Amino acid sequence: MTTSLCEFCSHTKDVVSAKGSRFLLCGKAATDNRFQKYPPQPVVQCGGFEQKKEEKISE
Ligand code: SF4
Repeated sequence: MTTSLCEFCSHTKDVVSAKGSRFLLCGKAATDNRFQKYPPQPVVQCGGFEQKKEEKISE
């Protein structure tokens, strides 16, 4: 199975339905109509992709 760019993108928001299905919502769709709110997966190429920053765990 191909891994989607959305998995590693800072614009992705995880949405889980009441039935437990998982959807990847593209946050860029809210401000840029070139992007779909729920892009067909997997996304293998995307002009809006921005790598997620590592989350730092503070002690
Ligand atoms: S900008 Fe592209 S890679 Fe990022 S969440 Fe949206 S569709 Fe996926």
